[in-house]
Amino acid sequence: MQGHIQESDFMMVEEGFVSRDLMDEIINNLSETEERDAFFVADLGDVRKHLRFLKAMPRVKPFYAVKCNSSKGVVQILAELGAGFDCASKAEIELVQSIGVTPDRIIYANPCKQISQIKYAAKNGVQMMTFDNEVELSKVSKSHPNARMVLRIATDDSKSSARLSMKFGAPLKSCKRLLEMASNLHLDVIGVSFHVGSGCTDPKAFAQAIADARLVFEMASEFGYKMWLLDIGGGFPGTEDFKIRIEEIADVVNPALDLYFPKCFDVEIIAEPGRYYVASAFSLAVNVIAKKEVLMDHSDSDDDENVPNKIMMYYVNDGVYGSFNCIFFDHAHPKPVLHKKPSPDQPMYTSSLWGPTCDSLDRIAKDLLLPELQIGDWLLFNNMGAYTIAASSNFNGFQQSPIHYAMPRAAWKAVQLLQRGLKETEERENVCTPMSCGWEISDTLCFTHTLAATGTI
Ligand SMILES: *Cc1c(COP(=O)(O)O)cnc(C)c1O
Repeated sequence: MQGHIQESDFMMVEEGFVSRDLMDEIINNLSETEERDAFFVADLGDVRKHLRFLKAMPRVKPFYAVKCNSSKGVVQILAELGAGFDCASKAEIELVQSIGVTPDRIIYANPCKQISQIKYAAKNGVQMMTFDNEVELSKVSKSHPNARMVLRIATDDSKSSARLSMKFGAPLKSCKRLLEMASNLHLDVIGVSFHVGSGCTDPKAFAQAIADARLVFEMASEFGYKMWLLDIGGGFPGTEDFKIRIEEIADVVNPALDLYFPKCFDVEIIAEPGRYYVASAFSLAVNVIAKKEVLMDHSDSDDDENVPNKIMMYYVNDGVYGSFNCIFFDHAHPKPVLHKKPSPDQPMYTSSLWGPTCDSLDRIAKDLLLPELQIGDWLLFNNMGAYTIAASSNFNGFQQSPIHYAMPRAAWKAVQLLQRGLKETEERENVCTPMSCGWEISDTLCFTHTLAATGTI
């Protein structure tokens, strides 16, 4: 397979590493210079979450949603671990195929596609693709008659932070018509997909959508289709501090799957997690490039002198036109962590944080209580992997913040085993339980075994 991840693609880190260590090291090196550009640290070891997903929902194969973060390291390591990919465009298909992902591990999960891109998928062997309307069916029947169509249905996404069913998903009542048309066009319809909305807080939305999908399977059989694919989409949480954990979603999803799609049905079940895989893996460091003091006039109040007489405005070198676009597009509220620990007696000031562009919309946070920062100081943001770099622009000539990848040594060993092919390793037969491992060296093999046991590789 071309495009394997190599040691030169990342910095090797030892046991017990946290992203913060690498950030400190980079910041330390930069402190000698004036080049203090913002940067990301990505912990590739965080994809141990792949195991957690497989353990939480053993019947479900994840197809990573590339749009969430298409940086090479992420896509490469997920490819090595045997994940599939949800691509929404020609460029995303190109990206995953360039690192050797085979077409059967790709779903073209965009219900409204440009004709030339449908043809691109056809030419490159990508068969699975979603649809939710008649016009798409007639486009596909002309441009990609051998496609394997997946009917995307609408869901109740009212409890999710980013709703999707306003734009995509056929209501149940139009599914019959769509299936009839597909059948008349001699298109193959292999299954049903949905998305409960990104940042879903109510697992019942999954249960309802799974029940609806079963109805569509039955409708399809009226037209002679024997559907075999259920795609439960994305919407899984990306950070530990989110309102709900993936296991709580699994507690609802698994019984719903067993009820509506019992094992004897022989249905392949996939999901399209995006945020889940990358949100917590990325941290961002930004540098204070400018500051302003806004003096407050307290003269006509009888406040004592402890009330600060100024508020602060800080300008940093990444903003909402860059990585912080998540504030607008993903309803995020990023909070900074100070790189330098303040001393307890330092006065605190109400402060706002601004990006580097000339637009006043470019504000990252307001009403923060911070000690006084100096030009050249660093601020750190955790959980910056989902829907950040993916949609950042070069507006005003500011470049995207570069990514430094870190790979824990034990994780790298597991990846190398996978690269060599598990069949060679005798230990393959060893019994081990998923998630007993983390990344301790002694348990590295456990990781690969688990992947093998769950059929991901
Ligand atoms: C955005 C998207 C995803 C990923 O959603 P997350 O909430 O990040 O898991 C999955 N599938 C489709 C079709 C999407 O548009």
